[in-house]
Amino acid sequence: MSDCIFCKIAEGEIPAKIVFQDNHVVAFEDINPQAPVHVIIIPRKHIPTISDLTEDDQELVGYMHLVANKIAAKNGLTEDGFRLVTNCKKASGQEVFHIHTHFLGGREFGWPPG
Ligand code: 5GP
Ligand code: ZN
Repeated sequence: MSDCIFCKIAEGEIPAKIVFQDNHVVAFEDINPQAPVHVIIIPRKHIPTISDLTEDDQELVGYMHLVANKIAAKNGLTEDGFRLVTNCKKASGQEVFHIHTHFLGGREFGWPPG
């Protein structure tokens, strides 16, 4: 998608602090971090929202969680734990319409979320 900011990051057209990438997924530091470790995990494939997923995407979405585990290990958070968040559409506050998982770690989180 030519006007998608996360596609542009994945293609290297917009700079970002990339912490992991391979043929399927890119992970980069959030520009406005909400925790000591705040990484955005995206598929290279442009999918606007979780509502747009198809059965073809099952493996890709599962793989994003395995990438989260790699990010946890890199940051020494495997034992303490972390939070993964995926917003979907208006009620959640989704701002970027290319699916992504927020990896948040390095502090305690409240529940329920705001
Ligand atoms: P959403 O509200 O869609 O779940 O989250 C979008 C996230 O993307 C926000 O946390 C925001 O700070 C981050 N973000 C938006 N634009 C950019 C950007 O250009 N670069 C980076 N690294 N993060 C961005
Ligand atoms: Zn995109």
